[in-house]
Amino acid sequence: MAQKWVYAFEEGNASMRNLLGGKGANLAEMTSIGLPVPPGFTVTTEACNAYYEAGGKFPEGLWDQILEYLDALGQKLGRKFGDDSNPLLVSVRSGARESMPGMMDTILNLGLTPAGVETMAKKFGDERFAWDLYRRLIQMFGKVVLDVPGEPFEDIIAEIRAEEGVTTDAGISAAGWKKTAEQFKALVEKHTNAPFPEDPFEQLKLGVEAVFKSWNSKRAIDYRNNFGYPHTWGTAVNVQTMVYGNFADGKSGTGVAFTRNPSTGVDHFYGEYLLNAQGEDVVSGARTPSNIDHLAEEIPSAYEELLKVAEILENHYREMQDIEFTIESGKLWMLQTRSGKRTASSAVKIAVDMVNEGLITEEEAVGRINDDMINQLLHPRFDPDALKAAKPLAKGLNASPGAAVGKVYFDADTAEEKGKTGEPVILVRPLTEPDDMHGMLAAKGILTAEGGATSHAAVVARQLGKPCVAGATDIKINLEKREFRVGDTVVKEGDVISVNGATGTVYLGEIPVVVPDFEEQHELRQILEWADKTRRLMVWANADTPEQAERARRYGAQGIGLCRTEHMFMGERTAIFQSYILADTEEEKQAALDKMLPLQRDDFHGIFRAMDGLPVVIRLLDPPLHEFLPSREELLVEVALGKERGEDTSKAEALLRKATELAEFNPMLGLRGVRLGVMMPDVNRMQVRAIFEAACDALAEGVDVHAEVMIPLTAHINELKFLQTLLEKEAKQVMQEKGREVSYKFGTMIEIPRAALVADEIAELAEFFSFGTNDLTQMTFGLSRDDAERHFLLQYIEQEILPKNPFQTIDRDGVGLLMKKAVELGRGTRPSLEIGICGEHGGDPDSIEFCHQLGLNYVSCSPFRVPVARLAAAHAALAERGWTRLGELGIQDPARKQQPA
Ligand code: PEP
Ligand code: MG
Repeated sequence: MAQKWVYAFEEGNASMRNLLGGKGANLAEMTSIGLPVPPGFTVTTEACNAYYEAGGKFPEGLWDQILEYLDALGQKLGRKFGDDSNPLLVSVRSGARESMPGMMDTILNLGLTPAGVETMAKKFGDERFAWDLYRRLIQMFGKVVLDVPGEPFEDIIAEIRAEEGVTTDAGISAAGWKKTAEQFKALVEKHTNAPFPEDPFEQLKLGVEAVFKSWNSKRAIDYRNNFGYPHTWGTAVNVQTMVYGNFADGKSGTGVAFTRNPSTGVDHFYGEYLLNAQGEDVVSGARTPSNIDHLAEEIPSAYEELLKVAEILENHYREMQDIEFTIESGKLWMLQTRSGKRTASSAVKIAVDMVNEGLITEEEAVGRINDDMINQLLHPRFDPDALKAAKPLAKGLNASPGAAVGKVYFDADTAEEKGKTGEPVILVRPLTEPDDMHGMLAAKGILTAEGGATSHAAVVARQLGKPCVAGATDIKINLEKREFRVGDTVVKEGDVISVNGATGTVYLGEIPVVVPDFEEQHELRQILEWADKTRRLMVWANADTPEQAERARRYGAQGIGLCRTEHMFMGERTAIFQSYILADTEEEKQAALDKMLPLQRDDFHGIFRAMDGLPVVIRLLDPPLHEFLPSREELLVEVALGKERGEDTSKAEALLRKATELAEFNPMLGLRGVRLGVMMPDVNRMQVRAIFEAACDALAEGVDVHAEVMIPLTAHINELKFLQTLLEKEAKQVMQEKGREVSYKFGTMIEIPRAALVADEIAELAEFFSFGTNDLTQMTFGLSRDDAERHFLLQYIEQEILPKNPFQTIDRDGVGLLMKKAVELGRGTRPSLEIGICGEHGGDPDSIEFCHQLGLNYVSCSPFRVPVARLAAAHAALAERGWTRLGELGIQDPARKQQPA
């Protein structure tokens, strides 16, 4: 027997989305919970894959099964597909596992023939309606299946409107639509050199095939590449009985709605509808839809029922839903439900509200948020004072929040090209379409003159987290002249505008932006508190100043994992350190160190105070000394010019001599890290003295100090034996002088492959490890971290020679293997060994998950990344417990596996 390729809606459920696609699975689920769904069936994603495997042919049994299900559908409804005296009309729609906005198209009214039109006109007593159905079929079928361009169809409609002296499609007469249909057919014939296929069965076959083919259209492939969806999923095809919203009886219409506001998250039914409309009319932007609240007055009973259905759906799916519906002569029909795409702020608000409503658990709320959302919430906004002073140029719909400043470009290709050169771009279009995706991805913000809150631009921008103002009807775009006008103001291609997606306002010129205040993000902070309860991995921060430490703590850091002390040798202090480097005698050196000591002590004191009660890892001086001197080239020029002018060049000459002496061919592998400490221990000794003096002073003030002294770049245990022993002696000396006992540890960074491989030996002395994955990656790959990204690394990634940039995401197979080894060996020697990571990877979600799996104690990242790291650590813990699709719509808690996605 042939494989089962077709499922009636009654045969499926929401858990079957891989087989039936998201739309099909949810139509089945809605059917099973008794909601009003026009009956139909779904052709599986497996059929789509089998079609491709067979080289573009229907697999065995597919067409027979479609006919069988079509027949059963007809019998159920007392109609018959292909019977002009009593036609069964259907829609054909694609439906992949994940919704891909605007990626695949719909065909409506399939099964209708000119003879069928007569029957429909009689049956519904409305000839105009029947011809409207037919012209829509030709138009959609022509575009979607036969690849006829869209504009000529619209041109024909515009001519008919002009002929009939009406301004809207609703005004066109029956004769007008009949004539439109005839002209449409002629248009199709002209483009395809074949008559429009009148046989409903042939139409259906071609329609199903067109959906299969659309899976591999360029825009679908681009979309999947962008979102990382596999190309092997395939799409399902939904064949569903038609219901009609295009009666002119005042009780019919069609709409799209969200069960909560997708922009703000407010629990208020949100959407748009059009009376006397069908299919894509609402989202196409051709007519301006009405706010859904207005439906309460226009068709109160349908509105009431819609609200009830929305509530049932939310309680059932425990998730905000995006629905499509049609009202046929007052009767509500549900055409689709899916998890609604939303802005970051609404995602966070909805998750918190749903926990408070008892609809979902705290862990589910955490699982529904992702790092992109956090980034968006903590992203810049317009400076409020500058905004007050700015004069708006135009106003549209606040389609997707955020602030964007950039140069205006009018097409996706140019936007992409300019974006690649690093120019900030605002994509300005009459409307966006799926083909504009690459331009939207490249743009900082999007502005459209047409379309509403559910237009393509709005939906996609929200998903991408880009500011968007849609439907700014004041702007008159002239694509040929590459400009837009608002009244007398002309904005040309390349001019700078500012776009406020939160208010829908557009401004000429640049408005400064500000970083939002984390303190005010109450809902986000609530989610992160729940994340803290879920995670095992601690989150620390890399901070070099008390201010940074304070910020990190406000963001939720549980310690400082890396204080790079060389940053404290910069600015005005460079001169002091240079005098150390240039010193010829021990006395001169000591004099320089004596000047440094109080400055360092103040730095550490401030950080200990800021981190009262929490650990602070201070790394001893790491970079090669030449980094504290001007470059040799600069000095050469300075000496030469000075001499020519007869100036005193002795200082520059001394620096030049020293710079030449310190120069190394590969300084990253030279005299730096622990090696500096071994060769000139007095600097490290001064630093340790400063740390312990600061710690004792802070203790005396009642601060709870946990100091961890970190030695960088260790390769051999003997380095630690020498340096750590010497430094610990100094620490004890200070504590004795001060009469205080500081809680402290000495440890090392693991950033040289050898150190990872002999971590058992290293742990004999080191009381903690911190992976310096920047250096560890550089040394494991033999890639210079300062040069590689400039020269070839990015090309390597583009050409997929490397799957990811190893300086952003830990290379689990290579660098990761060394880390794993180091953890095992280190804890073998010292079971309580504290292990963290302080390379840039500490703020990368994928790397954080890996650190969780290795059993590290903490990740340490920049203060701004701390919220993202808290969430990522929680997701890692949930993933370990079997949760899937974390951070996506429709996450799955294994305890709720039986529930719909
Ligand atoms: C590292 O190498 O990962 C590290 C944190 O040290 P730095 O970047 O300062 O070399
Ligand atoms: Mg390093």
